[in-house]
Amino acid sequence: MNHSEKYLYCKIFDKNSDFVIWMAFPGIYSFSMSSLGFLWMYKTIDTLNGVNIERICSDTKTTRYRISDVKIFGFSFSFDMDFLTIFAMLNKYGVPIKSRDRVGLPLVFAGGPVVSANPEPYKEFFDFFIIGDGEDVNIKVIEICKNNAAKGKDELLKLLSNVEGVYVPHYPQRVKKLTKKLSECIYTPILSENSFFKNTFILEMSRGCANRCGFCLASYLNLPLRCVPYDELIKTIDYGLKHTNKIALLGAQISAHPHFHDVCNYIYNKIKNGENIEMSVSSLRVDAITPDVVKTLVASGQNNSTLAIEAGSERLRRLINKNLNEEQICNAVKICKENGLKGLKFYGMLGLPTENQDDLIAFVGLAKKIKKENKGFDISFGFSSFVPKPHTPFQWCGREDTKLLESKSNYLKKELHKLGIQVHISSIKWDYWQTVLSRGDASLNDFLLEVYRNGGKLGSFKAAASKYKLNTEYFAYENYSLDKKLPWDFIDMSPGRKFLEEENKRLFAT
Ligand code: SF4
Repeated sequence: MNHSEKYLYCKIFDKNSDFVIWMAFPGIYSFSMSSLGFLWMYKTIDTLNGVNIERICSDTKTTRYRISDVKIFGFSFSFDMDFLTIFAMLNKYGVPIKSRDRVGLPLVFAGGPVVSANPEPYKEFFDFFIIGDGEDVNIKVIEICKNNAAKGKDELLKLLSNVEGVYVPHYPQRVKKLTKKLSECIYTPILSENSFFKNTFILEMSRGCANRCGFCLASYLNLPLRCVPYDELIKTIDYGLKHTNKIALLGAQISAHPHFHDVCNYIYNKIKNGENIEMSVSSLRVDAITPDVVKTLVASGQNNSTLAIEAGSERLRRLINKNLNEEQICNAVKICKENGLKGLKFYGMLGLPTENQDDLIAFVGLAKKIKKENKGFDISFGFSSFVPKPHTPFQWCGREDTKLLESKSNYLKKELHKLGIQVHISSIKWDYWQTVLSRGDASLNDFLLEVYRNGGKLGSFKAAASKYKLNTEYFAYENYSLDKKLPWDFIDMSPGRKFLEEENKRLFAT
């Protein structure tokens, strides 16, 4: 046990049980301790009788259990490139990377947004996948594995394939994505000095986002928007404040919570009454910025915030369903400045479908206007490039050519620098490979293993693609026709493919 950790629940250690689970995070310890989903899943299992669980991170040095004791080895899979660390972790513990090369236990599984959206590029590596919100299904999976311990791997997998939300590649069938009701509030169950967000009590206010921007997996994967009831939120905030003064409110669209302002006021009043509270929020939508919200952030120690505006022009923002006009953006900046924030970072996306030079010019024009109207206020920009994601209305849209995106990126850097604005743009080349993984199919499995074996750098992707004669440009650049069969069609996710097709047509007709 790590002595800088503080458990906010009673763990159950069952010395008579030999049923051991490893829950693995494909990253270093400090990041794992700020991953709410990972920690909550761990806590859920750690409070079960008859099961012992251990957390494993990429920098874990020693383990309490040996791999030969482990019955289930589960990975959280949140980012496309996590596969590299997952393979390295399997390798470190002597577990063959391909499922067919593993004899007997442990069963290796993955859950998280990447594999919930499209598990096909990874289907040969995992025995099963959890599709969607996994909090409850994990318990079912464990029960099945415990109650059928005498059965062989194949029989166990057959049983698991009948559980809603579990996809077993060996027994392929349609899988329904799991959607959890948020009646209880999920929070950081273990505080850590060594967490990336040191000793911070993160609580989930809402899950999903009703805005449905055309490119946004976070929204489409988590529909409908679910909000934790107000009383439950307040109870959880009070509980967290008994253990730390650092609170973070989490949710893709927390400002859409019907009681977001009440929660801010609740915390603001506590601060005004002398409590030392540091509060942060994940991100805010432009249309949620009000003087009260900003005052609460400032009173609780936040100096800067981020606003995602995605596109430079109103035309393109309308097309992607981010219906913000310039006046709303400028007004939000003014409110932030007047109520005490020191600066704002704007997020944008390059290469969104139909983007042209006028849209880039509009970005620069908007930045110029904001800068001029808010002298002394710190403005910066961050950009990534468009990566089409499964289950979104833009899943059929190819990505722009890398060279063209790089010239757009250079243009923005040059023009924004001229205005004295800091700019950070994600690597266009890495975003290309992300797209290949995002829209890939089962033909990618050997390719991914080769990439890992060759070191996982950019050059390894190119070399592996050429070894397997993989047409990666097809996955990345091709504009698919709306009737194309897609690798992830077998995942049953609301609102469903028909809706996505209609939404695609509606957005492009805007
Ligand atoms: S507002 Fe943000 S979280 Fe919501 S759909 Fe748009 S990009 Fe996604």
